[in-house]
Amino acid sequence: MQLSNSYLKRVFETVEKRDPDQPEFLQAVTEVFQSCQEIIDQHPEMERDGVMERIVEPERMLTFRVSWLDDNNKVQVNRGYRVQFNSAIGPYKGGLRFHPTVNLSVIKFLGFEQCFKNALTGLPMGGAKGGSDFDPKGKSDREIMHFCQSFMTELSRHIGQFTDVPAGDIGVGAREIGFLYGQYKRMRNEVTGALTGKGLKYGGSLVRKEATGYGLCYFVQEMLKSKGETFKGKTVSVSGSGNVAIYAVEKAAQLGATVVTVSDSQGYIYDAKGINLEALKEIKELKRGRLTEYLEYEPSAVYTEGRGIWSVPCDIALPCATQNELDENDAEILAKNGCRYVGEGANMPSTPAAIKVFFEKNIYYAPGKAANAGGVATSGLEMSQNSARMYWTFAEVDSKLKDIMQHIYFTASQTAQKYGHPGNLEMGANIAGLLRISEAMTSQGVSW
Ligand code: NDP
Repeated sequence: MQLSNSYLKRVFETVEKRDPDQPEFLQAVTEVFQSCQEIIDQHPEMERDGVMERIVEPERMLTFRVSWLDDNNKVQVNRGYRVQFNSAIGPYKGGLRFHPTVNLSVIKFLGFEQCFKNALTGLPMGGAKGGSDFDPKGKSDREIMHFCQSFMTELSRHIGQFTDVPAGDIGVGAREIGFLYGQYKRMRNEVTGALTGKGLKYGGSLVRKEATGYGLCYFVQEMLKSKGETFKGKTVSVSGSGNVAIYAVEKAAQLGATVVTVSDSQGYIYDAKGINLEALKEIKELKRGRLTEYLEYEPSAVYTEGRGIWSVPCDIALPCATQNELDENDAEILAKNGCRYVGEGANMPSTPAAIKVFFEKNIYYAPGKAANAGGVATSGLEMSQNSARMYWTFAEVDSKLKDIMQHIYFTASQTAQKYGHPGNLEMGANIAGLLRISEAMTSQGVSW
């Protein structure tokens, strides 16, 4: 990594030495450090107060055994994680991911990014992330329930409305949050907003389901506006077909774009007429099926196995699946085909080499920690409603979400401008997030 600031260099070497086997975490730290060299030069108190060495080390990391009974009454064992990264600006907040690729590196990268994202929302939320290497695919509802209950039996000791408030992420949607929340109540004998993403019948917020995808489009709308453009008439390519992707497709289409792709881990759909949202929701939200089934609804669409989604020409690319899904080669192809905007719905979906290409080719790029913050922001609104024992209407929450996304866009773009890098939203988001956390950490002193 190219770091000119000697303090950052030293801290990064320590992180590398301490966690050499955590590539995703090192990638996330690298990205932030590269953005923040100038402000570290301008804020010597950060070195004096040891802010950077503290910010890269989680306040607490929990790993635990999750044993559960499958449908054949056989004992299965998975590993659970909760990394409580930073509580300087509020209770820990961040999702739970259930996916076989989950390990400490993945959870730490997500938790680290979450701190900056939450700071950008302007709401009082610290950063955390958790999950398990459990694979929900192919499991019965009963197996999912047993797993979630066992996971929460341990996690319930470490969370709470004033301490740590988990939510969903890959593999954790409304069904899983319901099972997790039910077990939390049994263990703690209290009805509090200790999880977000809850069902609407038991404390959930309207718009939470739509929030990350909608928020992404509200953010990209601001990027377009800054160039005198709108979504109208644009061709949009979305990857993924989960929670974030579905509602990004919905909002982009509502704003007048034609969304021509969605994908899953096995392949992608190209539908030149525009993705049939009702079909997509039925396949993914109701039947929990595979994308190949889309062809039964839209025979003229094309399904292609494997990667390759970014070879489809588009004006706007919205990667909404997973980390490092868009590499340098994909970025080159997007640029060659005329793509001019990339908004990240997923966390860290573009590799560092891909991001370099975006800047070289003048593609206006929005990093996930800014563009996908609508999910956690609406979780913050769910917490407020739970505390006040009241509900806001769909329109009220949607309007607050829109305001927050506009605020994040302006914060990132104005910070980038202020520090001499106009248009660099990655730098603006990292600097603005870091300054808020750093001030809060410094005000609260160091314990020894
Ligand atoms: P879901 O589980 O609902 O959907 C995930 C989607 O990504 C599925 O289509 C899945 O396909 C695909 N996917 C997962 N792993 C891979 C892989 N290795 N290669 C290709 N495709 C893959 O998750 P979400 O929509 O909630 O999350 C998507 C992204 O958005 C993640 O990066 C998450 O961290 C981020 N995010 C989510 C937020 C939320 O509110 N849910 C908030 C902010 C960020 P398949 O079904 O085949 O596995």
